[in-house]
Amino acid sequence: MERINWTDYFMAQSYLLSLRSTCIRLSVGATIVKDNRIIAGGYNGSVAGEVHCIDEGCLIEDGHCIRTIHAEMNALLQCAKQGVSAHNATIYVTHFPCLNCTKSIIQAGITTVYYAENYHNHDYAIQLLEQSGITYQKVPFNPKHIAQYFLER
Ligand SMILES: [Zn+2]
Ligand SMILES: [Zn+2]
Repeated sequence: MERINWTDYFMAQSYLLSLRSTCIRLSVGATIVKDNRIIAGGYNGSVAGEVHCIDEGCLIEDGHCIRTIHAEMNALLQCAKQGVSAHNATIYVTHFPCLNCTKSIIQAGITTVYYAENYHNHDYAIQLLEQSGITYQKVPFNPKHIAQYFLER
Protein backbone atom coordinates (compact mmCIF):
# COMPACT_ATOMS: atom_id res chain seq x y z
CA MET A 1 0.00 0.00 0.00
CA GLU A 2 1.21 3.47 -0.95
CA ARG A 3 2.53 5.54 1.95
CA ILE A 4 0.27 8.47 2.83
CA ASN A 5 1.95 11.86 2.40
CA TRP A 6 2.06 14.41 5.22
CA THR A 7 -0.43 16.76 3.59
CA ASP A 8 -3.08 14.08 3.17
CA TYR A 9 -2.34 12.82 6.66
CA PHE A 10 -2.86 16.19 8.36
CA MET A 11 -5.83 17.07 6.19
CA ALA A 12 -7.38 13.72 7.13
CA GLN A 13 -6.90 14.71 10.75
CA SER A 14 -8.78 17.97 10.10
CA TYR A 15 -11.65 16.09 8.48
CA LEU A 16 -11.76 13.70 11.43
CA LEU A 17 -11.95 16.71 13.76
CA SER A 18 -14.74 18.21 11.64
CA LEU A 19 -16.81 15.13 12.50
CA ARG A 20 -16.79 16.45 16.08
CA SER A 21 -18.44 19.74 15.04
CA THR A 22 -21.55 20.65 17.00
CA CYS A 23 -22.97 23.20 14.53
CA ILE A 24 -25.52 22.17 11.95
CA ARG A 25 -24.52 24.72 9.37
CA LEU A 26 -21.01 23.58 8.48
CA SER A 27 -18.52 21.07 9.87
CA VAL A 28 -15.00 22.46 9.93
CA GLY A 29 -11.77 21.01 11.29
CA ALA A 30 -8.34 22.59 11.75
CA THR A 31 -4.98 21.08 12.63
CA ILE A 32 -1.92 23.13 13.57
CA VAL A 33 1.36 21.47 12.70
CA LYS A 34 4.99 22.29 13.45
CA ASP A 35 7.87 20.22 12.11
CA ASN A 36 5.36 17.61 10.96
CA ARG A 37 4.03 17.24 14.47
CA ILE A 38 0.48 18.12 15.47
CA ILE A 39 0.54 20.80 18.17
CA ALA A 40 -3.20 21.60 18.27
CA GLY A 41 -6.52 20.85 16.67
CA GLY A 42 -10.03 22.23 16.69
CA TYR A 43 -13.50 22.03 15.25
CA ASN A 44 -16.35 24.52 15.26
CA GLY A 45 -18.37 24.22 18.42
CA SER A 46 -19.86 26.01 21.41
CA VAL A 47 -17.97 27.49 24.32
CA ALA A 48 -17.38 24.85 27.01
CA GLY A 49 -20.52 24.31 29.05
CA GLU A 50 -22.82 25.91 26.45
CA VAL A 51 -25.54 23.94 24.64
CA HIS A 52 -24.84 22.51 21.19
CA CYS A 53 -26.46 23.70 17.95
CA ILE A 54 -27.07 20.05 17.02
CA ASP A 55 -29.27 19.76 20.15
CA GLU A 56 -30.86 23.22 20.39
CA GLY A 57 -30.61 24.60 16.86
CA CYS A 58 -28.24 27.36 15.77
CA LEU A 59 -28.28 30.81 17.35
CA ILE A 60 -28.64 32.98 14.28
CA GLU A 61 -27.86 36.68 14.11
CA ASP A 62 -27.50 38.53 10.79
CA GLY A 63 -27.48 35.21 8.98
CA HIS A 64 -24.59 33.77 11.01
CA CYS A 65 -24.54 31.26 13.83
CA ILE A 66 -23.08 33.24 16.74
CA ARG A 67 -22.86 30.30 19.15
CA THR A 68 -19.81 28.56 17.80
CA ILE A 69 -16.11 29.24 17.98
CA HIS A 70 -14.55 28.47 14.63
CA ALA A 71 -12.25 25.47 14.24
CA GLU A 72 -9.18 27.61 13.51
CA MET A 73 -9.83 29.78 16.58
CA ASN A 74 -10.35 26.72 18.76
CA ALA A 75 -7.02 25.32 17.58
CA LEU A 76 -5.25 28.65 18.21
CA LEU A 77 -6.88 28.97 21.62
CA GLN A 78 -5.74 25.47 22.48
CA CYS A 79 -2.19 26.70 21.79
CA ALA A 80 -2.80 29.72 24.03
CA LYS A 81 -4.28 27.63 26.81
CA GLN A 82 -1.41 25.17 26.76
CA GLY A 83 1.32 27.74 26.21
CA VAL A 84 2.40 26.34 22.85
CA SER A 85 3.65 28.78 20.24
CA ALA A 86 2.03 28.65 16.80
CA HIS A 87 4.83 30.83 15.39
CA ASN A 88 6.05 29.49 12.03
CA ALA A 89 3.49 26.71 12.18
CA THR A 90 1.26 25.40 9.40
CA ILE A 91 -2.51 25.13 9.64
CA TYR A 92 -4.55 22.54 7.74
CA VAL A 93 -8.21 23.52 7.47
CA THR A 94 -11.08 21.76 5.75
CA HIS A 95 -12.50 25.09 4.50
CA PHE A 96 -11.01 28.45 3.54
CA PRO A 97 -10.85 30.48 6.78
CA CYS A 98 -13.25 33.36 7.36
CA LEU A 99 -11.91 36.90 7.65
CA ASN A 100 -11.68 36.88 11.46
CA CYS A 101 -9.91 33.53 11.56
CA THR A 102 -7.56 34.67 8.81
CA LYS A 103 -6.58 37.70 10.88
CA SER A 104 -6.00 35.53 13.95
CA ILE A 105 -3.98 32.99 11.95
CA ILE A 106 -1.73 35.77 10.65
CA GLN A 107 -1.37 37.42 14.05
CA ALA A 108 -0.49 34.12 15.74
CA GLY A 109 2.50 33.82 13.41
CA ILE A 110 1.31 30.94 11.29
CA THR A 111 3.16 30.97 7.99
CA THR A 112 1.35 28.39 5.85
CA VAL A 113 -2.35 27.73 5.33
CA TYR A 114 -3.55 24.63 3.51
CA TYR A 115 -7.28 24.40 2.89
CA ALA A 116 -9.23 21.67 1.16
CA GLU A 117 -12.42 23.44 0.10
CA ASN A 118 -13.34 26.96 -0.94
CA TYR A 119 -15.81 28.64 1.39
CA HIS A 120 -16.85 32.25 0.70
CA ASN A 121 -13.17 33.08 0.18
CA HIS A 122 -13.08 36.70 1.32
CA ASP A 123 -11.18 39.15 -0.89
CA TYR A 124 -9.79 41.04 2.11
CA ALA A 125 -8.69 37.78 3.75
CA ILE A 126 -6.79 36.91 0.56
CA GLN A 127 -5.29 40.42 0.48
CA LEU A 128 -4.11 40.08 4.09
CA LEU A 129 -2.58 36.66 3.43
CA GLU A 130 -0.75 38.06 0.39
CA GLN A 131 0.50 41.12 2.29
CA SER A 132 1.71 38.97 5.17
CA GLY A 133 3.71 36.75 2.85
CA ILE A 134 1.80 33.71 4.04
CA THR A 135 1.75 30.67 1.82
CA TYR A 136 -1.84 29.62 1.27
CA GLN A 137 -2.76 26.78 -0.99
CA LYS A 138 -5.82 24.77 -1.85
CA VAL A 139 -5.09 21.11 -1.22
CA PRO A 140 -8.16 19.03 -2.02
CA PHE A 141 -8.48 16.18 0.43
CA ASN A 142 -7.62 12.80 -0.99
CA PRO A 143 -9.27 10.04 1.08
CA LYS A 144 -7.85 7.35 -1.21
CA HIS A 145 -5.38 5.88 1.28
CA ILE A 146 -7.80 5.81 4.14
CA ALA A 147 -10.67 4.41 2.08
CA GLN A 148 -8.36 1.77 0.63
CA TYR A 149 -7.14 0.80 4.07
CA PHE A 150 -10.61 0.18 5.41
CA LEU A 151 -11.90 -1.46 2.26
CA GLU A 152 -9.05 -3.97 2.27
CA ARG A 153 -9.48 -5.07 5.84
ZN1 LIG B 1 -24.69 26.75 14.96
ZN1 LIG C 1 -13.58 31.50 11.04
